[in-house]
Amino acid sequence: MGGGRLRVLFVSSEIYPLAKTGGLADVSAALSMALTVLGVDVQLLMPGYPKAIEAAANKSVRLELADFMGAGTLRLISARTPDTALPIWLVDCPALFERSGGLYQDQHGAEFPDNAKRFAVFNHIAARLALGELIPGWRADVVHANDWHAGLLPVLLSQAHGKRPGTIFTMHNLAYQGLFPADLYAQLFLPEEALTPDGLEFFGKISFLKAGIRYADRLTTVSPSYAREILTPEYGCGLEGLLQARRSDLTGILNGVDHRIWDPATDPHLSGNYAARDIRGKQACKAALQSELQLESAPEAPLVIYASRMTDQKMADVVLEALPSILERDVQFALLGEGDSSLEDRFQDTGRRYPGRIATRIGYEEPLAHRFQAGADILLHPSRFEPCGLTQLYAMRYGTVPVVRRIGGLADTIVDANDRTVRSGTATGFAFEQATAADMTGCLDRSLKLYRQPLAWRRLQRQAMRQDFGWDRSARQYLKLYQHVVPEAPFEPEADEDCSDNGEARLMAG
Ligand code: ADP
Repeated sequence: MGGGRLRVLFVSSEIYPLAKTGGLADVSAALSMALTVLGVDVQLLMPGYPKAIEAAANKSVRLELADFMGAGTLRLISARTPDTALPIWLVDCPALFERSGGLYQDQHGAEFPDNAKRFAVFNHIAARLALGELIPGWRADVVHANDWHAGLLPVLLSQAHGKRPGTIFTMHNLAYQGLFPADLYAQLFLPEEALTPDGLEFFGKISFLKAGIRYADRLTTVSPSYAREILTPEYGCGLEGLLQARRSDLTGILNGVDHRIWDPATDPHLSGNYAARDIRGKQACKAALQSELQLESAPEAPLVIYASRMTDQKMADVVLEALPSILERDVQFALLGEGDSSLEDRFQDTGRRYPGRIATRIGYEEPLAHRFQAGADILLHPSRFEPCGLTQLYAMRYGTVPVVRRIGGLADTIVDANDRTVRSGTATGFAFEQATAADMTGCLDRSLKLYRQPLAWRRLQRQAMRQDFGWDRSARQYLKLYQHVVPEAPFEPEADEDCSDNGEARLMAG
């Protein structure tokens, strides 16, 4: 059996490159890889979205259930991630996951009406796999459940008789709660006594997120600042009371950057590669991006990007409001994003009024996101709240200077460029306080002022590029927590293990 390695079932609704709507996918892929490198036997589990099944490698059906929870045929597929060859399980249940549209919504942006059922089934399968009831010889020491989609797992495992895996629940964004009408409860096969305010009930509804927070052994979120902020009514989304009660079990662990995917020195999506010691390639990327987006070819004009989900969280409304004023400065502005459809339309209208100066790309385009980061000078990244944020970390890595609101993970990762930090060479970006157009534009002005001082700007870019936001340190923190919830679990670290070999399956081992 697995050489005494700690067996972790890592459960996530999104794993890059199989399925992604935001940072959760990047984190799931990179963290599981970093843990594997540390010697942990990580098995991933995700819903069998058709595109995910299609993209997975080495697939084999390991189990077929005729009518699990009334959801029709369900197959458990064993596979490998296509890029890193990590072992992954996909819950293939066509009635639940074979849909047109997105992962959670139809093509018109409406939530699927059966999301509670879809993810309840997913959680039941996860629990049974973790308990060793599905695949002979494999059970988990620890279950790491992520976000509301996996929030029922700690409840289900808390019901298990005898020895059960330890549970970690990570909150990547408290704003997404998985709230459903209470009359669906009977369909979800959950313990009757859990539907109370002391359980997973949230103001008369079923809350998958609250379930995870209430029943997991340990809780984490994705930055130390956000871990503090969610204890307050302003950022706790109504769960601050429960989170305060569990504060001694809550840790903020910062997300990292996957340098295999996000490194300007090797990024295959760019027209020029570059690194901190020689960033000349970035100019070629800027020229190529201006040409691709039909912006004026102007090497000197600061190119400001906004690349994000277009939502209230990301202050898309404030950016839209500020845009005419921003364009009074001598800047170019490029936007890549999708989200709120009325905001999308209004951004496009504004774009049409400034041909050559604004480019709007509505949609989700992964390679273009890389070219945006490489070709830009400044990333405008305001947030009303920000659990961690990866976009500003990618920007730093690509020598694109972030202008952020000082909140959550943004506050933890950006050193504001003021007189002192510019002089000492420790600055990595610009930060503002209030979620207002005035504060944001004032901060952008500070960045534009420094942009006109090429030597100081280069220094700032280099300092940002040299920041180490790799996953190793954070993965070690997760490992400590795993060991904490299962102190008796075997663990023999396999340090410096060759990554190409660490996906070795241990599915059938006894
Ligand atoms: P969040 O998870 O809140 O959306 P993060 O900054 O943590 O924010 O992660 C966002 C991720 O999604 C990044 O990898 C970013 O590049 C990507 N992303 C967001 N919008 C788009 C888009 N329209 N096209 C391509 N990638 C996008």
